Amino acid sequence: MPLLVGLHSFVSDLPQKSLHDLGFAELVEVLAADGVKAHHAKALWRTLHRDGALDLAACEFSGPLKRWVENSVGEGRRFFLDEPELVDEIRSTDGLTRKFLLRLRDGQTIETVLMGYDGRHTVCVSTQAGCAMGCVFCATGQMGFVRHLRPGEIVAQVLHARRVLRTIDPKRHLRNLVMMGMGEPLHNYDAVITALSVISEVRGIGIGPSKIAISTVGVVPSILRLADEQRPYRLAVSLHGSTEEERAALVPASKRWSLAMLIDACRTYGQVTGKRIFFEWTLIAGKNDSPETAHRLVELLRGIDAHINLIPLNPTGGFAGSESLAGHEFQKILIGGGFPCTFRQRRGIDVAAGCGMLKAEKRTR
Ligand code: SAH
Ligand code: SF4
Repeated sequence: MPLLVGLHSFVSDLPQKSLHDLGFAELVEVLAADGVKAHHAKALWRTLHRDGALDLAACEFSGPLKRWVENSVGEGRRFFLDEPELVDEIRSTDGLTRKFLLRLRDGQTIETVLMGYDGRHTVCVSTQAGCAMGCVFCATGQMGFVRHLRPGEIVAQVLHARRVLRTIDPKRHLRNLVMMGMGEPLHNYDAVITALSVISEVRGIGIGPSKIAISTVGVVPSILRLADEQRPYRLAVSLHGSTEEERAALVPASKRWSLAMLIDACRTYGQVTGKRIFFEWTLIAGKNDSPETAHRLVELLRGIDAHINLIPLNPTGGFAGSESLAGHEFQKILIGGGFPCTFRQRRGIDVAAGCGMLKAEKRTR
């Protein structure tokens, strides 16, 4: 019958959604709409996020949940699971950093890094394929923007890193997360916030909100939104310049959101949330590493509860990192100006897993 044929094609044409895209409350709602009780939703949530299961058909569920999974998850059904394919894994020579090249359902590749230092493990996730911001010293920026990641694609990176960590040492926990991989998290605000609510939920992955850092190039409206919504995460702002000119030469996005607007937004963020802001500063020889720049930075940040993280430039071509003497002089001036200022450890440089080196290319062997 034409009507039934039409209905059938309507049902199977419904866009599939990833179960990993759903926050806890949304999962409860989805199951409730199909008459499945909340305690089953809790069991499914634990399976997905605490256990990290990917083969739900093989899981021991009680009757109603088992039936729901059979009817709703899988090829041609309403839901699927985000299970990125591992294309390549590269380990640093010190064995402490692993970079994963992951392929998403549409073939896009992204990178995720697992770092283990001082017994603490941190995952660095991508939030976009490519990036629209075009910072001149950043490999991702030079690729251009491809697309936003969905929440489930962000969550799946954490699940992958944790799975690997469990194989290395089942007793170790993944405690920290930084959004410093490919992409600009605050250009993909809603997906990032949904993903973080999933990642920090205590019955699931359970990374504490205070152990999560969102790093931004300075998307001013989104910084104000984070403050307004009192989001509990740490904020890191990639500054790199102490004048409009100095910054614009490195960070094209500052033509849209000027340094003055960004610093204003940071002041507001600090006042509204009472939280410290971490400023990131990639030291580039002859561009932003002079003592004058350091003194200007002290004046610029005065009154903000700020910690400055100095990042040695990782080679991406075209730019040279600062001499270590210039870097230490820079640090001394900031500390003298009253700001805590530390050097970011260089991590995984030999596997091109350092900041800004995450380029979605399979390495040539
Ligand atoms: N888009 C966000 C987060 C991803 S970039 C942001 O810009 O903050 C994470 C950090 O890596 C940023 O501080 C960025 O400035 C830094 N970075 C980019 N390229 C780099 C490079 N070649 N060497 C060192 N740090 C770099
Ligand atoms: Fe994008 Fe951050 Fe790279 Fe700039 S530094 S291009 S904002 S990923």
